[in-house]
Amino acid sequence: MHCGQATWRIVVTLIIGWAGWTAGAVTLYDAGRPLAVIVTAERPTGVVRHAVAELNEHLTAMTGTALPVVVESALDGADARPRVLVGDTAESRAAGLDTASLDPEAMVVRCSGTRLFLLGGDRDDRNRVPATADRAIGTLYAVYGFLESDLGVRWLWPGATGTVVPRRADVVIPDGDRRFQPPLIQRHIRPGLRDWDNAVGKLGMTPEMTARLGTEYTAWSARRRLGRRANFRFGHAYNNWLRDYGKEHPEWFAMMPDGTRVTPEKPYPNLERAKLCETNPELLDFIAARGIEYLEKNPDALSFSACPNDSRGYCMCPTCKALDPPEGLPTEMNYPGQNFQYPSLSDRMVWHWNQIALRLGDRCPGRYIGAYAYSNYNHPPLREKLSPRVVIAYVGFNYLNAEYNEQSRRDWAGWSATGCKLFLRPNLLLVGHGFPLNYARDLGRDIQECFRTGMLGTDFDSMTHQYAAQAPIFYVLTGLLWDPTRSVDALLDEFLTAAYGPAVAPMRQYWDRLEALTRDIAAYRDPNADHDRDRGFHEMTAVFYNDEVLSELRGFLAAARTAAAGDEGVLARLAACQTALDYARIQRDLRRAVADHRGSPETTARVTALLQEKQTFFRQHLDDWTLGLHHVYWREARSTTHRRLYGGGIEESLPRPNELTRLVTWRFQTDPDDRGDQDGWQAAAFDDAAWKTISSLNAWETQGWAGYDGLAWYRCRLEVPAAWAGRKRLAIEFGAVDESFRLYVDGAMVHESLFAASDDPDLWKKPRRVDLTGILKPGTTQTLAVRVHDSGGAGGLWKPVVLLYED
Ligand SMILES: [Zn+2]
Repeated sequence: MHCGQATWRIVVTLIIGWAGWTAGAVTLYDAGRPLAVIVTAERPTGVVRHAVAELNEHLTAMTGTALPVVVESALDGADARPRVLVGDTAESRAAGLDTASLDPEAMVVRCSGTRLFLLGGDRDDRNRVPATADRAIGTLYAVYGFLESDLGVRWLWPGATGTVVPRRADVVIPDGDRRFQPPLIQRHIRPGLRDWDNAVGKLGMTPEMTARLGTEYTAWSARRRLGRRANFRFGHAYNNWLRDYGKEHPEWFAMMPDGTRVTPEKPYPNLERAKLCETNPELLDFIAARGIEYLEKNPDALSFSACPNDSRGYCMCPTCKALDPPEGLPTEMNYPGQNFQYPSLSDRMVWHWNQIALRLGDRCPGRYIGAYAYSNYNHPPLREKLSPRVVIAYVGFNYLNAEYNEQSRRDWAGWSATGCKLFLRPNLLLVGHGFPLNYARDLGRDIQECFRTGMLGTDFDSMTHQYAAQAPIFYVLTGLLWDPTRSVDALLDEFLTAAYGPAVAPMRQYWDRLEALTRDIAAYRDPNADHDRDRGFHEMTAVFYNDEVLSELRGFLAAARTAAAGDEGVLARLAACQTALDYARIQRDLRRAVADHRGSPETTARVTALLQEKQTFFRQHLDDWTLGLHHVYWREARSTTHRRLYGGGIEESLPRPNELTRLVTWRFQTDPDDRGDQDGWQAAAFDDAAWKTISSLNAWETQGWAGYDGLAWYRCRLEVPAAWAGRKRLAIEFGAVDESFRLYVDGAMVHESLFAASDDPDLWKKPRRVDLTGILKPGTTQTLAVRVHDSGGAGGLWKPVVLLYED
């Protein structure tokens, strides 16, 4: 293809556009050759610069070549190249489009003649890259909407395996003018990526891994257009008030059923979360004054939070109790030494918020009091009429509990009927312990019903465990948050087609089977089960995820692998599903072994072996599989309930291998004629300076050696610190080696591991550990050489290589 032909095409396009009998088109690429240029203003904002980088990153993955980027003033008037104008430019303003006058978060994709305009209502003036979705970034949404709707890009989940970019040689965009503003003013799912005190380090995560997961999640959530254009504040508002004000104002705090109030010396449930006395007039004055002060100091905030603290211990003083209608739905109340049923507290809370609203009066017009409908006050009020100054964030829905969900639908409808401004703030993503589940359709229908009945936005708590086990849920949810009018089934189809391509039929069966399983779990009632948020789920994993079910699911994956043979992207996504099933099997067995544990050597050995298997699993998969670090740590190591269910106590007695260092970068050389051994490639003195470098986190095929099968060598030099001298055991763990390998240290072979499909067809993806106690010499520099043999498909070291110690 040469330039003359390209120009001809553009001329034809113009004439067709001018003639008006059919739509014209802009040609960005022809036969893989870039014809267009990306144009920005002289000084593009951070949002625009990020939008251009994202556009070119995806166009490069699609066509192999980026488009040139120029500022508007650098263009020659005679330059006939088609233009992609991103953000505000003189030309877009001349065409009647500018970011400041567009509604916040609104996006425009206009294709006309030789111009493609991508811009939106931006309200982020901080000029930083990357832009994050905590303010209106419409131009970025225009680019994402264009990549998705016009070019077929899909972002299934964070990271490379979740990104699907179709390959194209021609990119031709027909004329059109598409505008969209997401109807939900806040589309938020909490990432759960905060790493409390490097807690996830205890599970084997390194700071580099947590940083990478954070970057990938942030990119994905922006691409799925989670974000907001309004800043409503909610959240438990009175943490530590008992500590700070309890001495001076004892009457501000909750009365227990025995008639005594909580004090800093005698708090309940603890000092941080003690409750208030909702009817104390002086306290109401204080809360309102603080709220006004907050709003005046934070011009961005549309509300201040007046949500009670989390957990139990609500006020039982006669004045507060008088506001609780006896006919209210019963809720469970907990106090020191006693639990009892008590009517819903919603009327009291609504009265309390109304009192704060009265004290606001006409101060801070257009701004609100943020309140939860949650816990003992999540049912709608029966008597009190809610002030229009109060915004409710409703906490409900749980797809492992059908009965609770029915009540949630009624509650939502009741709050909606009050006419209040209403947000959805569910904890439903926290349930299910990261097991494979699919409630995408049921959640989708509830989201749509909430939208039809007044939902302004969402705040989901939080991404939990990992995405591969529940991927369609996140895809359908984020798709509906952007456009709640889309068909749930169409979104599911979009996910399945993009994720699995030729394997879509068996994978539809796979996810449908999980949907049926999830509904079975939701319908199940076990009166003896532990009534935590997961309502008996853990106790019943042995029933729900029995061998028959897991084998049926594995069968769908096997059929899918056959259908997708040769498609590395699809195979990687199928592998993630397989990992999810392996995870379910380990957790199920561990849960059962803990329940059967009687302290005998046999039952202890069984629990110990499974705990070790789980440790190995986490070590192998934290890198490629984790989402929501905080909740992984919470579930696996911190929560007392989960530790009891999954082996806490016994776990502490395990020898815990500790990580010394990770070996990521190696020198690499293929060895098609098997010369390495005789030429001394294993020797410490061998000069490997001419070898290329390679990462041990991915197969060699993805790093410049596509299609190579056979022998290849990895070498690295290791400075073994003198401080390692005191360690009882030292070992190297290869996260996975595809397929066989020999390990040499300073020229001497110390280990050989042969892959034989007849013995263990999965050995290529399992961790392999080699004891190097006595072989590594602390205080010296040593040479590691790994000779790998791969008979076909992907090959080499492709998971973290870690040096471990035990004391
Ligand atoms: Zn009270």
